Amino acid sequence: MYLLSKIISIYLRLYLIISRIILKNDWHLIANCKEQNNMNQKTVSILGATGSIGIQTLDVIKKNPENYNLNYLTINSNYKKLLEILDIFNPHGVVITDENAYKEFKASTNFKGEILFGYDSLNSIASDNSNDLLVSALVGFSGVIPTYLALQNRIDVALANKETLVSAGNIITQAAKNNNSRLIAIDSEHSAILQCLVGEEVKSVEKIILTASGGPFRNTDLDDFKNITVKQALNHPNWSMGSKITIDSSTMMNKGFEVIEAHWLFGTELSQIDVTIHPQSIIHSMVQFVDGSIKAQLGLPDMKIPISYALNYPERLYYDFQRLTIDKMSKLEFYEPDFQRYPCLRLSYESMELGGNSNAVLNASNEVCVAAFLEERISFIEINQIIEKTLSNIDYIENPDLNQIIETDLESRKYTENLINKKK
Ligand code: NAD
Ligand code: MG
Repeated sequence: MYLLSKIISIYLRLYLIISRIILKNDWHLIANCKEQNNMNQKTVSILGATGSIGIQTLDVIKKNPENYNLNYLTINSNYKKLLEILDIFNPHGVVITDENAYKEFKASTNFKGEILFGYDSLNSIASDNSNDLLVSALVGFSGVIPTYLALQNRIDVALANKETLVSAGNIITQAAKNNNSRLIAIDSEHSAILQCLVGEEVKSVEKIILTASGGPFRNTDLDDFKNITVKQALNHPNWSMGSKITIDSSTMMNKGFEVIEAHWLFGTELSQIDVTIHPQSIIHSMVQFVDGSIKAQLGLPDMKIPISYALNYPERLYYDFQRLTIDKMSKLEFYEPDFQRYPCLRLSYESMELGGNSNAVLNASNEVCVAAFLEERISFIEINQIIEKTLSNIDYIENPDLNQIIETDLESRKYTENLINKKK
């Protein structure tokens, strides 16, 4: 009996290896098969568990808890939220990167699992081989290294943190390819594209059509842009998200980032990626094929749907999420994006054309500008002006390695901070 099960197990492993080689197509990053330790349970860690995506991931897990083994949760400073999470979930351990929050948490919890501190711990749990899946939901450049380490260690990554692909797309996708690990998009547009691509071949794709809501300033008079307040910019019409991505959506830098993200995830050229403004956010994106046919993925604007798809990919599980009904589809509008209204979208196209380390400059400078805008140190219209200056003043590197990307990130932040400080 033992011998028989051993033979079956060897056969299954051989089958998986061979099918990986045969099935490997150009959706390499998302479509290869991977064994699970236990077909019914995935071991999952979440980076950024107290954030908008982190909490919604936990909400999805809560609906089918038997399917997941919660390994580590990481947070930066919101230890009170973590205490609430631990009333419901019992992960193997937690990592807290902010020192004060770590101390406060230790003093106020009776959690019996591991309690770790700092970025070294965050990096080591990201590369912990007991993970089947790492949910990467940190904000900004902080996601690059843990995501890279996970992929290098053959751990699949459900990626919300698009800034990782913006800053280091080439290095990250190479790490996934070289190690046969999957990068599964959580971003709603890229989840939509992935769903449209199931069963298709790369050569059949003519173009990708990314939809964008247009944000809160779609109809604002251009003369009034100089008076835009933080409160107005944080008031997204369709989605409730963390503050950084909400500001990125109001400038449409977010859509520029998503074009870069689509390029790296699906291997499509820039000329094959169109952006259309679709204020209802019902069609999450579309793919046009060489025979003229278009596939679209539709749904209510609820991130739990793409999160659940990424957690269970390539399977689908039942969830009782609110359903999209026909009446909500009676008015679907589409408009051309206007670079005058959205100069950050223009900047991201220009940066992509430049290639090299430019997107790392774009991302770093944008992070500093968004933080400065949220602190009311710069105005809304200064965001793109400062990024543009930074882009034209940082040394260009054609094929940066990871260290050069990290240096570019630091240098661009410093340069942008100086520009902001000089204004005073
Ligand atoms: P958020 O601000 O709500 O949460 C961020 C989480 O990361 C928090 O747990 C925070 O503690 C942690 N964190 C932030 N900075 C950190 C740092 N420097 N070091 C360590 N931990 C840190 O953000 P969010 O809205 O959940 O977005 C997360 C990522 O997902 C972003 O890259 C965003 O662009 C992307 N995304 C978000 C949505 C959404 O609906 N919220 C949709 C698509 C993509
Ligand atoms: Mg998106």
